[in-house]
Amino acid sequence: MSEVNIQSVRSIKPINGDTVHKICSGQVVLSLAVAVKELVENSLDAGATNVEVRLKDYGKELIEVSDNGYGVAEDNFAALTLKYHTSKLCDYSDLLGVSSFGFRGEALSSLCALADLSITTRHKDSSYATKIVYDHKGNITSKTPCSRQVGTTVTLTNLFSTLPVRQKEFHKNYKREFTRMTSLLYAYCLISTGVKITCNNQTSSNVRTLVVATQGSSLYKDNIACVFGIKQMQSLLEIKTEYVANIKENILKGLSNTVQDREASETIDDVEIDLSEDSNDAASNEIPNSQETVCSQKSQGYINKPNPVELVGFISSCAHGSGRSTTDRQYFYVNSRPCEPTKVIKLINEVYKQYNPHQYPFVFLNIVIDRTSVDVNVTPDKRQVFLTQEKGVMNVVKASLLKLFENIPRTIKLESIEANVSSIEPELSQPRIFNSFLNKFSRKNNETAKSTSDNTDLKRKSSTLINYGVVKKSYKISKEELECNEENDTIIANEDSEPCEKSEENTKIINAETRGDSNDDITICETKLTKNKYDTDTIMYLEYSDKLPNTQIRNISDIVIESHQVVCKTKSSSEKPRKPNLAKIKTDKEELGKPINRKTVELKTSLEHVEALFKMNLKHNQEKARPDRIKFKSTINPVFNKKCEEELSREISKESFKKMEVIGQFNLGFIITRLEDDLFIIDQHATDEIYNFETLQKTTELTSQKLVVPQKLELTGVNEQILMDNVEVFRKNGFTFEIDKDALPTKRVKLLTIPMSKNWVFGKEDIEELLFMLRENYHEHCRPSRVRAMFASRACRKSVMIGTALGKSDMRKLVDHMSEIEQPWNCPHGRPTIRHLVNIAMVHTRED
Ligand code: ADP
Ligand code: MG
Repeated sequence: MSEVNIQSVRSIKPINGDTVHKICSGQVVLSLAVAVKELVENSLDAGATNVEVRLKDYGKELIEVSDNGYGVAEDNFAALTLKYHTSKLCDYSDLLGVSSFGFRGEALSSLCALADLSITTRHKDSSYATKIVYDHKGNITSKTPCSRQVGTTVTLTNLFSTLPVRQKEFHKNYKREFTRMTSLLYAYCLISTGVKITCNNQTSSNVRTLVVATQGSSLYKDNIACVFGIKQMQSLLEIKTEYVANIKENILKGLSNTVQDREASETIDDVEIDLSEDSNDAASNEIPNSQETVCSQKSQGYINKPNPVELVGFISSCAHGSGRSTTDRQYFYVNSRPCEPTKVIKLINEVYKQYNPHQYPFVFLNIVIDRTSVDVNVTPDKRQVFLTQEKGVMNVVKASLLKLFENIPRTIKLESIEANVSSIEPELSQPRIFNSFLNKFSRKNNETAKSTSDNTDLKRKSSTLINYGVVKKSYKISKEELECNEENDTIIANEDSEPCEKSEENTKIINAETRGDSNDDITICETKLTKNKYDTDTIMYLEYSDKLPNTQIRNISDIVIESHQVVCKTKSSSEKPRKPNLAKIKTDKEELGKPINRKTVELKTSLEHVEALFKMNLKHNQEKARPDRIKFKSTINPVFNKKCEEELSREISKESFKKMEVIGQFNLGFIITRLEDDLFIIDQHATDEIYNFETLQKTTELTSQKLVVPQKLELTGVNEQILMDNVEVFRKNGFTFEIDKDALPTKRVKLLTIPMSKNWVFGKEDIEELLFMLRENYHEHCRPSRVRAMFASRACRKSVMIGTALGKSDMRKLVDHMSEIEQPWNCPHGRPTIRHLVNIAMVHTRED
């Protein structure tokens, strides 16, 4: 920086007005999505019942939003694009009750600064329309009368042309930006009842595709069906506001029940309960129109309190398979304003997870709350909100979901568990020796249950009980055999007890039952839910000798858990420690005295010669310096896998594999190779497996099977477009479609064929997954995860097994293959393929 420049920087001066405008505008309109959102919001604020969004080349060329709202009066043309000029509030106090989407008066002025903007508008009281063109500062450059229906059209071209870096980013990622825009637009489509919103995109090849179209219905349901298809709508449950259980309310309920049970003459009115101070906890009031409430007139005042929160919306059922694989369809609103209430979002997903652990729900939720307890003026894009009663809102949301999911047939049948539990009960008292174990186990389970949620007690309890049941059932040791000291968690074997029957290996298998045997009603899903260390295939062994006597005190900590086995070690009293069977050792002594035929060679040497040799050797070793750089430092240990991989990928190029010298096979499972001074060990199975896997990934075209009836897919407009653009990728994966480009969004694609393979069933989820992958980052060899899993298992079967002796050429081939693999460091199941063993140079220097 020159002297003059520094000087000028040092004095504080206001930033030039235009620059400020540009800087700030970039913060209001961050992306294509926000630009479209702002224009749509303006149209909705203008009372439009028809909003049309038109893009050219994904918004790169043009963005246009037309509406049939009340239009802009001529007096306002100039103010329209001025910073902080709005017709929606005059005073700060207006902000508290603001019901329009816009209120900051920034959008149009920002868009002016970031793009070329023109507006055609006809006010409802005007007989003609005017086209106004603005410059980047928001000044009118031309005004021409024209014809148009009442309403406004805002046209943007060259978005971000004044911010070159951002424009470059936008043009580079235009498809992703477009997807984000549609996703945000969906939020407005869903919440805007009585408004017809359409969006279409015209690509450079002049093909026009309809992205989304709602029908202007007055029901949210219909909007959901328009955007996501009828099937999606049918899988949803309507959310009903459930207020948090109130102690007093419970008292009333309880009392009223007893009243009914006892005498009809006794009425609830006789019970004096003061309900006045109940309003403190705003969230815990009674449901507004729950007429069947058990409370009598005395509690009327309480019931009639205005409700602070009401939830309106829909959520996926928690039944297995009813959710989605990602959180891609979750729409939240506060007083119909699309926003991201982070904590509520997290809560809903957490609650849902407890019922359907492997999926995420579709959510459309409008939190209706007193406007004065919401601050919507948090960020320029108005996506964040502050709720003064957040905790109360969260409680209501939680209670509502729990209530909603309460009666959904889950993956577990409660009756059958209860039956199981009761049938198991008698055994509870039997082997007291295991009660302490069980307590420990169940305590662990309970802890996990508690940490997730208090309100899912029922579910969690039941799952605990299953574990309980199975475990309990498993111990078939009788009271006479074992006694338990109840005071602490120790087991004292009864000295007087009869010896247990002795099994051959001095080991008695106490439990070999799996859960599947004992609880047929539990589906896989629930199994996973209750999965813990002591899982289904937990087999418990108790090693003991005839008497179990001298064992004395055994703590739970003595139980060693090894993979799936719990082993209780007890010291054997009767069994003498077995002495190793020492084989006879041969010594040289036997050979002594025997005549041996040995060749004799005469060697001549002198001390000087030896000394010279020694010196030479020493010098040579000194010269052979340590390697200038230690390339591989990590030890072979699963803990350092990541580090090892980093080193390997840094030091070994694909070509290096070809240069490696094959030294030999080790232990019938590993190839030892050498590259310069470094020795490597290669897992023969893992490396062959990843090679075969990648080959399958690249070359396999799955055979497909024709469906008897083409299946409606009901994809969103955007997904349909992605699918249509990538038909080839889908075909490679065995999916082909019937495409009707002119049909309405969600109705354009029908599934014709699905991939066919023994034991593997593919379907709509795989298509959705593939769409997601294609959208996030396109890859020629995109495969749904289940196809990958199938390839992985095929590759495994094809590959060289551990235990196979390999010839040198076989080994050479395997090592050469590694140079062709994209990701050579791990097999598809994650096992490492290659590790550095040792640097030979280092070995030498150490010896010296
Ligand atoms: P805000 O929406 O926060 O008021 P904007 O910059 O988005 O700020 O819009 C400025 C003003 O322009 C609005 O207050 C509104 O009066 C007017 N306006 C913008 N778009 C439209 C439209 N589509 N129809 C009618 N009036 C509009
Ligand atoms: Mg606005």
